[in-house]
Amino acid sequence: MPVLTGLATHFSLLGYVLKTDIFFISDLHLALEKPLLTTKFLNFLKFYASQAQAIYILGDLFDTWVGDDDFFPPIQRIKKHLKQLTEKGTAVFLQPGNRDFLLGEQFCRDTGAVLLGDYAVIELNGVKTLLTHGDLLCTDDVAYQAFRQKSHTLAWRENVLSKPLLVRLLVARWYRLRSFFHKRGKSSTIMDVNQETVETTMRQHQVLRLIHGHTHRPALHTWLIHNNTAQRFVLSAWVTQPFDLLGWNDKGYYLISI
Ligand code: MN
Repeated sequence: MPVLTGLATHFSLLGYVLKTDIFFISDLHLALEKPLLTTKFLNFLKFYASQAQAIYILGDLFDTWVGDDDFFPPIQRIKKHLKQLTEKGTAVFLQPGNRDFLLGEQFCRDTGAVLLGDYAVIELNGVKTLLTHGDLLCTDDVAYQAFRQKSHTLAWRENVLSKPLLVRLLVARWYRLRSFFHKRGKSSTIMDVNQETVETTMRQHQVLRLIHGHTHRPALHTWLIHNNTAQRFVLSAWVTQPFDLLGWNDKGYYLISI
């Protein structure tokens, strides 16, 4: 495993996952055209998640989500395995990403997953920890934030979900293509988090630890806020690695590559 800036690499090998462990993942971007990724995710559920206390999926589990009525592969299989996991006692928490923010109540009923809001604060080893996908922290990308605001209104959501499934799937394809070309033209600083936004958000939630994904720039950033050490864990996207899971137990954190 390559060394990451500031991110210590403690290995936890398969078979040593304890029932107290918690996993954080994000940005899997599961899609029909990436069957190996689906297999990897199902292996994660079977061999790792099933041993753990809880998993938190911090957004972009799916590359696109056009509504809970979408039944195209690999959705049914993923739902089935998530349901088996929650039934066996591993809690599954889900945050919306920028790709799958239309995930809704029906998906949760079908799987037993709990849908969290854009921000969630949990206690991790006695330290209050803020969880979020990460796109809200990228405030330098003004065009994206404007689109985000529009697409998170009830009117937009209802309008989109009222369209036939096939229309939504086609529109989603078009959006993905458009976003690909837009991204190529954007500088890489614009697509990273804004440090001031990070600090304001952490202050608002009164936390010194933040875990997020979205930027696909895995790292552990540490700095001082009023003489206290603040931590920002950035999760790895599954396509670009270098690790797949951030695990926590009472000894601290560790990273796993599946
Ligand atoms: Mn994202």
